[in-house]
Amino acid sequence: MSDIGTDAKRTPKRRLLVRARNLRTPASETRCDEARDSATGPQIIVRDLHKSYRKARIEIPVLRGVDLCVEAGEFVSIIGSSGSGKSTLLHLLGMLDAPDQGEILFAGKRVDSLSTRQRDRMRNREIGLIFQFYHLLPELTVLENVLMPRMIGSSIWSYPLRRREYRERATHLLEKVGLGHRMNHKPRELSGGEMQRTAIARSLMVSPKLLLADEPTGNLDARNGTDIMRILRELNQTEKLTILMVTHDTEIAAQADSTIRLVEGRVHKSRNGS
Ligand code: ADP
Ligand code: MG
Repeated sequence: MSDIGTDAKRTPKRRLLVRARNLRTPASETRCDEARDSATGPQIIVRDLHKSYRKARIEIPVLRGVDLCVEAGEFVSIIGSSGSGKSTLLHLLGMLDAPDQGEILFAGKRVDSLSTRQRDRMRNREIGLIFQFYHLLPELTVLENVLMPRMIGSSIWSYPLRRREYRERATHLLEKVGLGHRMNHKPRELSGGEMQRTAIARSLMVSPKLLLADEPTGNLDARNGTDIMRILRELNQTEKLTILMVTHDTEIAAQADSTIRLVEGRVHKSRNGS
C-alpha cells in the first residue's frame, strides 16, 4: 500500500514520522516507485520474483518474493551467504533461466515472459556477462575470444562484410583493458587477471547496456581484484553502463553505488557510503 494514498488521514506528527522513515529507506531502493515505471524510469524492475529448484523430489525455494529497482547507470553489488541465491538472481536477470513467478522489466518492457529464442536474441544484444572462471575458449586467441559474440550473433553473410569493423572494436576494447600486447596469445598464456580482463572485453563487444558479473574477482588476488574493480567503475562512469556484480567480499561490495543483500530469499537494497 502506497504511503501517498493514506497520507491525508494522518496527523501532521504521523506524516513527519512517515517522511523521516522514507528518508532513511527510500521506497524506490527496493520496491520501484510506480510513477517512474515509464521508459524514462528505472532500467530494471523486479516484482515478486520466485524461483525454486527440485532435488530428489524435494523443492528448494531460493528466491521467495524479490522486489528490486535498479536505475540506468547504477553500479550495484549483490552479497549474501553461499547458497543464498545470488547466482540464481543474476541468471534470471540475464535471462539464462526463467522465474517460477513474478516479473522482470527492462526499460519498462516485460522480459520474463519472452520465448527462449527472443530471450537469447535480447541477451546477445543487450547484456554482457562475466563469470568467476572467465569461460574463455582455450583453442582461440585472446582477440578471437573477444570477437566470439559477433561471430555467434552475425549471419555467415554479414560477418565477413563487417569483419574489419569488428576487429577494430575488439582491438580497441583489448587496449582499453590493458591487453593490447596480448591479442595473439592463447588464454593459457595469461594470468587470472588478464583472463578476466579478456572476458570483460568480450562482454563489451556488442555494446551492452547492462553488465552482469558473477564474482568477477572471486578467483583473483587483491591486486588483480582491485584492477578489475577499477575497470568496471571506469566503464560504469564513461559508458554509463549499468552493472550488477555478485561478490562475497564486503570491501569490494562497498565500492559500488549500492548493495543488495540476499537473506532468506528476499533482498534488501541500501546505498553505499551514506
Ligand atoms: P549463491 O550464488 O548465492 O551461492 P545459488 O544461486 O548458486 O547461490 O544457489 C542457491 C541454491 O539453489 C543452492 O542451495 C543451490 O544448491 C541451489 N541450486 C542452484 N542452481 C540449482 C540447479 N540448477 N538445480 C538444483 N539446485 C540448484
Ligand atoms: Mg554463486
